[in-house]
Amino acid sequence: SVASEMHTVTLIPGDGIGPEISESVKKIFAAADVPIQWEEVSVAPILVKGKTTIPEDAILSIKKNKIALKGPLATPIGKGHVSLNLTLRRTFDLYANLRPCRSIEGFKTPYDNVNSVLIRENTEGEYSGIEHEVVPGVVQSIKLITHEASERVARFAFEYAQSSGRKIVTAVHKANIMRLSDGMFLETCREVAKEYPDIHFDEQLLDRACLHIVQNPTAYSDRVMVMPNLYGDILSDLGAGLIGGLGLTPSGNIGQHASIFESVHGTAPDIAGKDLANPTALLLSSVMMLRHMGLTGKADQIENAVLSTIAKGETLTGDLGGKATNSQFTEAVIKAL
Ligand code: NAD
Repeated sequence: SVASEMHTVTLIPGDGIGPEISESVKKIFAAADVPIQWEEVSVAPILVKGKTTIPEDAILSIKKNKIALKGPLATPIGKGHVSLNLTLRRTFDLYANLRPCRSIEGFKTPYDNVNSVLIRENTEGEYSGIEHEVVPGVVQSIKLITHEASERVARFAFEYAQSSGRKIVTAVHKANIMRLSDGMFLETCREVAKEYPDIHFDEQLLDRACLHIVQNPTAYSDRVMVMPNLYGDILSDLGAGLIGGLGLTPSGNIGQHASIFESVHGTAPDIAGKDLANPTALLLSSVMMLRHMGLTGKADQIENAVLSTIAKGETLTGDLGGKATNSQFTEAVIKAL
């Protein structure tokens, strides 16, 4: 039957704590009988003609499977190294960055009941990488906005709202100042909104949005926010701050031909190899991945087990104020499945 069909997913365990938290996901998926087989690849950078790039077999694996789960990567410091995350984003044209921002019961933060979703245009805008020196002392950095990229991210936002039962899509912009660039982004969102009459569309200036989100984040619940690259980069971390930081935050990078789901935190070199990491962010990323694949039953089961384990508060890792190891937390989640 379709329900028992096996899916192959590329797994990039990553660096630092990456392999430990990936192991936790694998164990929990096996215990929950998720119909997924992992194809593990390394994206350790290789040099081709003096440029760093990702190994070909990793690229082929993601191309074939179309879905990947990724741990954090250590970006080598030094000249000539392009961020591997950026390389992956460009290689697979991952045009939308999806960042849910949701309070976690059992982890007390200044705000409760935050539950919004932020979608960021992931390929152009302020991060198009077009910069040059006009004359010494004067540089120019170009913010590139295209109708095509605006349209596909806007459409993704409405589709996401529809499939996740959210009623409002809000475009965040500065079209009052950036008349042409943000103006076109906004105009494109308005056009796409007409195709989704069931979903309310509204618009908010970026500065206003920042002010209101920290004053009353609950007002943004059940909403999807969509915005150009830089604004999304900043606002998504602001959102993570509202719910207690980057440690518990999942994300998805969505493309037409492949999607990569990943935890937002880094490689945590200070605790790597000590079985102290909290696998929650990668687990919640894997839950997003399951929903994206249509495996909603398994997604709900694993999400409930993770969240109830944290809410119980008996088996928490150090970052949440507990004494449990990653392995003990993982066992507790498996018991809760
Ligand atoms: P970091 O997120 O690795 O660590 C910041 C702090 O948070 C550390 O004290 C760490 O122990 C803690 N922490 C992070 N994740 C945790 C988890 N799952 N469980 C428990 N504690 C956790 O940030 P950093 O130190 O600035 O970066 C370290 C490396 O990670 C750098 O090489 C950086 O380039 C890389 N990085 C990668 C990504 C990515 O691949 N998406 C994102 C950010 C940073």
